[in-house]
Amino acid sequence: PGPGHLRSRIFKIIVIGDSGVGKTCLTYRLWTGRFIEKTEATIGVDFREKVLEVEGERIKIQMWDTAGQERFRKSMVQHYYRNAHAIFFVYDVTDERSFQSLPVWIEECRRHSRGYDVPSVLVGNKCDLHGVSRVSADVARKFAEAHSMPFFETSAKSPQDGDNVEDILMMVAQRLKNQK
Ligand code: GDP
Ligand code: MG
Repeated sequence: PGPGHLRSRIFKIIVIGDSGVGKTCLTYRLWTGRFIEKTEATIGVDFREKVLEVEGERIKIQMWDTAGQERFRKSMVQHYYRNAHAIFFVYDVTDERSFQSLPVWIEECRRHSRGYDVPSVLVGNKCDLHGVSRVSADVARKFAEAHSMPFFETSAKSPQDGDNVEDILMMVAQRLKNQK
């Protein structure tokens, strides 16, 4: 086999949600398998690549992360959404407000995807935090169903506390690989 043998399809996944929900930590966890406690404010847009072997095919995943949706909104937003193959909508299970923000994020994504139905997942992060008030998983699941997305609760910090982040990515990757 020639060099073409090693060529892999590239899929762009964007990570969306309020500031502080753990987008950078999730991206880093998916990229390295580790957790970083202290993240630096991403300047504009940042992406990390990862090659996955999905059902015998190598596919390249680009995870796009930004801390700047608020500050960089106008100039970057277009660039960020362009040609996204999948979207992770993230909220913090201990922050009700981040859950309440989701319709606004979903609406914004709709506006930028020009009618194309981008495969999405709903991710409730920080489920390792116990003893604090939590967004009800039932309520979140109903919300996800209403928007035709699968729903997961996970933790970038402590993966054994919820759905495994890598498994969520693999599920999305499988769906992308097999879609027409
Ligand atoms: P972003 O603004 O959405 O990118 O959020 P960050 O990834 O920067 O995370 C914000 C804060 O939440 C940081 O202090 C992280 O250490 C913390 N954090 C992120 N993910 C988790 C998690 O799964 N569990 C816990 N306990 N803390 C987390
Ligand atoms: Mg960030």
